[in-house]
Amino acid sequence: MTIRKHKLLVRVVSPLGMMGGFLLLPFILWVAVAVVGLPRPGGDSTSGVVMTLIAIAIFFTLVYGGGRLAVALFQWRVLAECPHCGLAALGLRFVTVNRGTYRCRACGYVDPTSARDQPNGVAPTQAL
Ligand SMILES: [Zn+2]
Repeated sequence: MTIRKHKLLVRVVSPLGMMGGFLLLPFILWVAVAVVGLPRPGGDSTSGVVMTLIAIAIFFTLVYGGGRLAVALFQWRVLAECPHCGLAALGLRFVTVNRGTYRCRACGYVDPTSARDQPNGVAPTQAL
């Protein structure tokens, strides 16, 4: 698989994972309230306000974590072909929260086109 196809699939898989994390939120809150017995989010009580803040934190964690987990699981089975060594070992490695570089897990090759995705436009140094 080429890097271009892999990038395209990552752009599809990541939002699907984020959506999966979002859909888990009602289940997590139901488990917290109905099964564990924590106070229900909302209301005027202090515990309701605290649970609302916890629910908001869980929301962002699930959405962001769902996207990252989906990409990690996708790359567990599907990697791009390295133009340097020819092995299917080129995977996306996140550098910042939402950006990453394509780095070969076999030879350390760093895809120079990934530099365009970097905030400062400079690719990280190649690790050999
Ligand atoms: Zn390689």
